[in-house]
Amino acid sequence: MVVPYKHEPFTDFLVEENKHAFEAGLKVVHSYLNQDYDLVIGGERVSTKDKIISINPANKEEIIGTVSKATREHAEKAMQIADVTFKSWRKSKPEVRADILFRAAAIVRRRKHEFSALLVKEAGKPWNEADADTAEAIDFMEYYGRQMLSLKDGIPVESRQIEYNRFNYIPLGVGIVISPWNFAFAIMAGMTSAAFVSGNTVLLKPASTTPVVAAKFIEVLEEAGLPPGVVNYVPGSGAEVGDYLVDHPQTRFISFTGSREVGVRIYERAAKVHEGQIWLKRVIAEMGGKDTIVVDSSADLELAAQSIVASAFGFSGQKCSACSRAVILEDVYDQVLTRVVEITKNLTVGDTKDSTIFMGPVNDQAAYEKILSYIEIGKAEGRLVAGGKGDNSQGFFIEPTIFADVSENARIMKEEIFGPVVAFCKARDFEHAIDIANNTDYGLTGAVLTNNRSHIEKAREDFHVGNLYFNRGCTGAIVGYQPFGGFNMSGTDSKAGGPDYLLLHMQAKTTSEML
Ligand code: NAP
Repeated sequence: MVVPYKHEPFTDFLVEENKHAFEAGLKVVHSYLNQDYDLVIGGERVSTKDKIISINPANKEEIIGTVSKATREHAEKAMQIADVTFKSWRKSKPEVRADILFRAAAIVRRRKHEFSALLVKEAGKPWNEADADTAEAIDFMEYYGRQMLSLKDGIPVESRQIEYNRFNYIPLGVGIVISPWNFAFAIMAGMTSAAFVSGNTVLLKPASTTPVVAAKFIEVLEEAGLPPGVVNYVPGSGAEVGDYLVDHPQTRFISFTGSREVGVRIYERAAKVHEGQIWLKRVIAEMGGKDTIVVDSSADLELAAQSIVASAFGFSGQKCSACSRAVILEDVYDQVLTRVVEITKNLTVGDTKDSTIFMGPVNDQAAYEKILSYIEIGKAEGRLVAGGKGDNSQGFFIEPTIFADVSENARIMKEEIFGPVVAFCKARDFEHAIDIANNTDYGLTGAVLTNNRSHIEKAREDFHVGNLYFNRGCTGAIVGYQPFGGFNMSGTDSKAGGPDYLLLHMQAKTTSEML
């Protein structure tokens, strides 16, 4: 009997002992900086000439690892191996697959601070954000393992006296997992785990800025007993390997998390039926967000201000769930804005090797430039009241930035910036606030701060987002507690860490035997 699922607790770094344990994790990571990582195809290490150099975004000089870069030929080889491996893996017992995940979760739990320290280095995460990323990776493995066990006998259907009917879920085939850098461990591990625990084989293409944590995860899966060929590690250029695998006739499904632009491209390309392809590909796509916190006149205004700051600037605003729009009722607007600016001006920004730093760098030079260009747009669309500057001399740092008095149709109110920038917009009344909140192509997360019960009910019905929170911030969903995923251009309406997520990786088979 498997013990019931419970989420992995977060670490309190005010406790000296935890701080020391994390520092020990950083030391371990230091001991293996700048090592080489090969592709893993059918369990074999394959080194390539062309490499991805993974660097620390807080310190461009520091190389985290040098990672082999898959070409189309490698991707093709991995596809053939995954295809052959599927023939046996699909018949493996669900219990065995779940046990591999439980063991892998236990291994990561034992090395928790090392993994988080690696995220500090490779993704520039502050300690608490890195800790949450690792905890979520553990949660995904524990949760999906249990979900698989609950699905293994199918769902009962009716049978007449003359027959015995069964309704079971079977795997799909070879899946391509394409993961983002912002939850470099949790989302990468979650998508991969869901795919293989359901009986599929996988080609994992991690984001090019965070391939080392994925290589370490592959090592964990091997240690946990995952047979060769079930998960193949093929880091490489999204444009080259990504397109090739998405188009491949043997690809059965694509599980993608990343930007709207790439998600839409994958969705369109996957729709084309290529020669030799005998199915319609399934696409699970989780994409961007333009997430809003609404503050009502009746709200606890200090809670509102703290929630906006944490949701807008946690991990430099680089969460799909990050608050990039604060919509405030006009009678409390000045008070909330003043307090948010005050808190923001006291935030610490810098290299997150230090536990006290609130906000680290942004992902890379491209992100740095994109965010600064939106800050320029913001200067024309609103009043800059905090931040606005960047410094990329050592790492890719951008100040937490606030624009006040932004109109509801401004670009910085509608386009995903994916950085530490929040726009403040005034609403006439609560209805207007919800209209503004819905005035976007996305529909991922949102929060409403209010003590008015009828407003809670109105928002519950009309605020069109996949994850809606009351009287808290709009980030920080927990696996199995707040299944996560958005509407409209935020994706294909899936819910990672939810009770129906594994089903997206499976198909139902009905069998009927005459008695
Ligand atoms: P991205 O640029 O779209 O990249 C995501 C992944 O797609 C990377 O592995 C990337 O590879 C790959 N890729 C790029 N071009 C491709 C192509 N033509 N075909 C196949 N794959 C391709 O996104 P990101 O910058 O990593 O992540 C940030 C975005 O993810 C934001 O928009 C954020 O909102 C979204 N996100 C959404 C969720 C959610 O649950 N809804 C969660 C997290 C993040 P390379 O790295 O090699 O380019």
